[in-house]
Amino acid sequence: MAQYKYQLEESDIPTQWYNVAADLPTPLPPPIHPATHQPIGPEALAPLFPMALIEQEVSSERFIDIPDEVREIYKLWRPTPLYRAHRLEKALDTPARIYYKYEGVSPAGSHKPNTAVAQAYYNKEAGVRRLTTETGAGQWGSALAMACNFFGLELKVYMVKVSYHQKPYRRVMMETWGAEVVASPTSDTHAGKAILEQDPESPGSLGIAISEASEDAATKDDTKYSLGSVLNHVLLHQTVIGQEAMKQMEMAGDYPDVVIGCVGGGSNYAGLCLPFMRDRLVGGKGTRFVAAEPEACPSITRGEYAYDFGDTAETTPLMQMHTLGHTFVPPGIHAGGLRSHGMSPIISKLCADGHMEARAYHQNGAFEAAVQFARTEGILPAPEAAHAVRAAIDEALAARESGQRSNILFNLSGHGHFDLAAYDQYLSGKLEDYAYPEEKIKEAMAGIPKV
Ligand SMILES: *Cc1c(COP(=O)(O)O)cnc(C)c1O
Repeated sequence: MAQYKYQLEESDIPTQWYNVAADLPTPLPPPIHPATHQPIGPEALAPLFPMALIEQEVSSERFIDIPDEVREIYKLWRPTPLYRAHRLEKALDTPARIYYKYEGVSPAGSHKPNTAVAQAYYNKEAGVRRLTTETGAGQWGSALAMACNFFGLELKVYMVKVSYHQKPYRRVMMETWGAEVVASPTSDTHAGKAILEQDPESPGSLGIAISEASEDAATKDDTKYSLGSVLNHVLLHQTVIGQEAMKQMEMAGDYPDVVIGCVGGGSNYAGLCLPFMRDRLVGGKGTRFVAAEPEACPSITRGEYAYDFGDTAETTPLMQMHTLGHTFVPPGIHAGGLRSHGMSPIISKLCADGHMEARAYHQNGAFEAAVQFARTEGILPAPEAAHAVRAAIDEALAARESGQRSNILFNLSGHGHFDLAAYDQYLSGKLEDYAYPEEKIKEAMAGIPKV
């Protein structure tokens, strides 16, 4: 009998996070000050983050212990299952073996609680009373709302306006866990007011919401800010995914030839792929790494690897990353979690150094893959994760063409139960594809700082 599911024990939950910075052949370019262009010190981040997280952000320790309190909460849904997609393989008539790690079993429905719980813990330890954050599709806000609730922290979520209206149920979920949720841009902050003066109808963007949430935190003593992707410490916390997947692939008796994930800011994909990337960087394995992004927000495939701000109001340090320009406002595609102008510095560097490739997909192609996945494997992927499913199916079809067996591993970062309006549009033929116009990209790129 074929085995479909590889399930670990609680005791297999990793006890340490893996920090790829220790194994990069050349160091990550440091974050720099926007005016002086000098590397910033930890104190520059102190108004926003507790020191324990800042230390992780700049750490070059290979393994960092996971606090017991965090691991206890992980036990509510970890270890997550790894599946072999036998039914999808059969439907595709491919010699490839398709494996996927499923992070949608967390209470918030995605991988995001892996870092939300850790961040809430370190803030609580540091005596912080209240957190602020931004959320795109609402997945990050939900994860952090749950985590703050566990640790008795208050939370205000600046939710990108287009998602606030598209996904009312995500707001209700955050409110159920006790968070306050507002539609960004708001008139509660200087950054929000400035945007509304220029464009009262602004649909919002992650960049704008980040400006609002970070201003709120930086101007209050008892408040800190929390980011759900992009930063090194966020990617670090997600590496529980890949460490578990390595054990599960061993149970299956296979090693992946290609590791795939969707990328918004890069955290779920980094979480799955970095432990395998270590085998490539220091073990000399020839594994391929494929990051799947949307055509509507193609930061790796069409952006530039350059120093840029993380936010629209130009308040953050500059980071070297693949960027579409910090003034970029992507169209309101359904994969709200993939609407970030900037890619994580770690993922960006791995792409720039040739260890990873990126591919961009239209949302109709992604939903076509998601529906085929749902009809064979049962699970309805989140629209973000649908991009990874598309890339995995394309790899499996290429294997059919070439007749070569390959082992494909991808991250199914979340379920799509709050995205049924998007499925409805796809199924009724009303979903539109947007490729971001070249002139618009040029326009936003003209605004990145000259370093
Ligand atoms: C937020 C989110 C993403 C995109 O963010 P990354 O940091 O790139 O992982 C992808 N999938 C799901 C389900 C998400 O919630």
